[in-house]
Amino acid sequence: MANDRTIETLLAQAGHFHDPASGAIVPPIQPSSTFARDEQYGLPSEHSYSRATNPVVCQAQDLLAALDGGEASLLFASGMAGITAALETLRHGDRVVAPSVMYHGTRDWLNHLADARGVVVDWFDPADDDGLRNTVNDEPVKLIWIETAVNPTWDVVDIEQASRLAHDNGGWLAVDATISPPVTCKPLALGADIVFHSATKYLNGHSDLTGGVLVTAICDERWNEITKARLLMGGVPGSFEAWLLIRGLRTLALRYERASASALRIAQRLEHHPEIEAVLYQGLASHPRHTVAARQMMAGFGGMLSIRVKGGREKALAVAGRLKVFVRATSLGGVESLVEHRATIEPNNPKVPDDLLRLSVGIESGDDLIADLEQALRRA
Ligand code: PLP
Repeated sequence: MANDRTIETLLAQAGHFHDPASGAIVPPIQPSSTFARDEQYGLPSEHSYSRATNPVVCQAQDLLAALDGGEASLLFASGMAGITAALETLRHGDRVVAPSVMYHGTRDWLNHLADARGVVVDWFDPADDDGLRNTVNDEPVKLIWIETAVNPTWDVVDIEQASRLAHDNGGWLAVDATISPPVTCKPLALGADIVFHSATKYLNGHSDLTGGVLVTAICDERWNEITKARLLMGGVPGSFEAWLLIRGLRTLALRYERASASALRIAQRLEHHPEIEAVLYQGLASHPRHTVAARQMMAGFGGMLSIRVKGGREKALAVAGRLKVFVRATSLGGVESLVEHRATIEPNNPKVPDDLLRLSVGIESGDDLIADLEQALRRA
């Protein structure tokens, strides 16, 4: 893949190839789970069994590595399959530092590793500028796992600072960049060792597959271990999902641009709305860490924001119930806008306020989305 191309061109032509026999420009799906050997028991290609490698999965992986500027990538059957494979590298006594507000699946798995394996997990407050530094406290750390911005309060974590703290204290940095895809954010260039995306979200963008991806800066021992974990735990995607992901990626830049523009308009419109307690969006100039976000987000702040509704839980649920364009569903990063009452999904998390509605802004008309929110706030 030519690396002098801009990311928009790489994306628009994602997976393009030229089949000399037919002239086709779209890659074929190879559904075969196994690959026949010749009389000498040799393999005609690098593929022998699709739990290890498959042509269209490899094609998607090459593309994803190029987009994030890494040496290699691995595709998984879901985001959680990728996260658990990466965390499989942790041993008894290893110390992990992670944000106290983050995607709940990762947090739950870290807690499981603490209970079941004796991994030590220290949580930092991502709303506190010095939270990460003070929690690391110049003591040895194996892994700093961050996401930015954190879900669902959208506090921003400084990737460069996290990478310095990880490396200065003997560890490595993983960044969950699910809501900050490579059109806008390049964690590896900012010092991360591994970047993770739930491909279920922006990368695919159409709410019709589950997938996960890890991209590594270098192919080292740790990467070999993760590759082995995927092979033996078996969390590989099917060839159709890999193909679908390549198709979704072709419009990522356009989808992300539209979602970012509409989310910013919504945030600005609601920031001083009489029915709104607070708007949490890293793209707002008033966000306490907006300058950090602006430094590490090159092309927009994305479509994820939360609103806190005056009147508490009942009022927030009433607003969600009156929305007509936003769909009431979990997940994010798709073409359709979603609203989620996060405390219903994470009922026992004191970090998730009862009055918070998480919005995933899609690619519909921004005017329609604003009108929908305004009528729901009026009628609730
Ligand atoms: N990371 C983040 C930030 C997420 O939002 C999610 C899912 O919502 C995941 C990881 C897990 O991804 P998946 O649902 O594809 O397993």
